[in-house]
Amino acid sequence: MTPAQLAKIRTIVEERIKEIETFLAQKDPESQPVSPDVAIGRLSRLDSMQAQQMLLAQQRRQREELEHLQSALDRINNGSYGNCAYCLSPIAYERLEAMPDAVVCISCAR
Ligand SMILES: [Zn+2]
Repeated sequence: MTPAQLAKIRTIVEERIKEIETFLAQKDPESQPVSPDVAIGRLSRLDSMQAQQMLLAQQRRQREELEHLQSALDRINNGSYGNCAYCLSPIAYERLEAMPDAVVCISCAR
């Protein structure tokens, strides 16, 4: 990987981290007071519980991705980024660009 490619990946990772941090910092919309003209029937309460569950699941996924991205950033900083964790060969740049937190090459991922 060329230094320019590595710099590009670092930018992708840093931007994605910012995106996730913004998402996680957002106030939970379900905890906002319900406006008086919204009926709170049994069904809408169920709907809102489901929406809450989905939001929690999404937050969990984003936190996991955030951890992966932060460890990718650590590897970029300490120079160990871009090598497959199994076969130790360099991971294709195209793969890293699409999935910057990838730790194995495409053949080991299969
Ligand atoms: Zn591999």
